[in-house]
Amino acid sequence: MGGMTTGDAIAAALYGNRFLTQPAPSTHFPDTGMSPVDAMRLVDEDLAMEGDPQRNLATFVTTWMEPEAQRLIAENLHRNFIDHAEYPISAEIEQRCVRMLADLFHAPGPTTGCRTQGSSEAIMLGALSLKWKWRERRKAAGRSTESPNLVFGGDVHVVWEKFCRYFDVEPRIVPLAEDKYTIGPDDVEPHLDENTIGVVAVVGTTFTGHKDDVVGINDLLLRFKQEHELDIPIHVDGASGGFVWPFLYPESKWDFRLEQVRSINVSGHKYGLVYPGIGWLVFREESDLAQDLVFYENYLGKTDATFTLNFSTGASMVLAQYYNFVRLGREGYTYVMRQMQANARALARHAAESGRFEVIGSDLEQLPLVAFKLAGKHTYDESDIAWQLAAERGWMVPAYTLPPNAEHVKILRALVKETMSREQVERLSRDMHDACETLDKKGGTHESERQQVKQGSGY
Ligand SMILES: *Cc1c(COP(=O)(O)O)cnc(C)c1O
Repeated sequence: MGGMTTGDAIAAALYGNRFLTQPAPSTHFPDTGMSPVDAMRLVDEDLAMEGDPQRNLATFVTTWMEPEAQRLIAENLHRNFIDHAEYPISAEIEQRCVRMLADLFHAPGPTTGCRTQGSSEAIMLGALSLKWKWRERRKAAGRSTESPNLVFGGDVHVVWEKFCRYFDVEPRIVPLAEDKYTIGPDDVEPHLDENTIGVVAVVGTTFTGHKDDVVGINDLLLRFKQEHELDIPIHVDGASGGFVWPFLYPESKWDFRLEQVRSINVSGHKYGLVYPGIGWLVFREESDLAQDLVFYENYLGKTDATFTLNFSTGASMVLAQYYNFVRLGREGYTYVMRQMQANARALARHAAESGRFEVIGSDLEQLPLVAFKLAGKHTYDESDIAWQLAAERGWMVPAYTLPPNAEHVKILRALVKETMSREQVERLSRDMHDACETLDKKGGTHESERQQVKQGSGY
């Protein structure tokens, strides 16, 4: 115990904790340990300085679940999901969830899919299947399998560029423009050729919460199939939208109702309303999963087929996802999504009526969020507002620039989740007003001042 006498150590054990007067271990593997209570308090007190999830309007990820769900999660933390031989019921529950999602997404018949750590893993796996299926088609036709490409818009999540770099596929990225934050068939067409493994359409973009024109892209690809005999599949990135569109916009087509949509990913830990990390990958038909990617092993006592990037992982979030499906059903999910949408609309209305802000695309199909930017000219920008809100009230509302070629557009985005009550919407609206009043007086903060705000605001 560095620098402590035995007497000090005994006193600390009796009356306090030695970590209260010493730095937390951080650079070397500790020589000695501490009591369970001390270890718990050390971690807890470190975390107390983090952001409060309740005021985190930046994240799409679930920050609250019911006590019954929390109990189910806590009671099953020791269960290794991949151990199908020993825990066959967990595996069966995963497959029930896959079948329910396939039904929700209008799959035409029996299909296949799996749980993943999140949409990122689901996207890597889905895109690998696109690449392998393309290779199968090229080989069968006696053509080169040299230079695969994937077409998507600048509105995608960073994971799509990651996939292209990690797995050696040429990204063909359709740039955005001012006032055009999603893509459609006219953007996609010039990029297609015989080496296109697929087109990605986003339903619920990270930037503004809108969807690409999946219907238009599907029509384009159907025409391509007829005219050029090229069968180019669509993968829908429904990380957020996959649990929103079926409930808020059931008539809007974006899923397996469209013939070229061959696979869909969705994050259970976003609007699936489960804690991180859980995601899902669902194929249209079993044949859309390239069989070469499935591995068979029997280490755990029974031959098992696996199609995953990770191996061991907890079963708790799979069970929690199933809990939500049976607890809420279509009616419950619809209720929750509508409640979030109603509160998001109230926030959007306040922002627009204040005269200070321009709300982006709230008249379109959109995730329950508010994307907005400053209207008119000011001596401060959206980042200043974000810092001011954090400094004054601890709200976490991110400000960011859009992707090329809309990078000169800066926006603020507030996620309105299940726990954000109307009262909180009113409070946030008032706090936005106060932040702007402060900034009207003092102008935008300088970079150095921002740094202080950042350090002082408990991020
Ligand atoms: C969040 C998100 C991802 C990544 O999903 P994770 O579940 O965080 O891995 C991918 N695409 C979109 C559109 C997203 O919103």
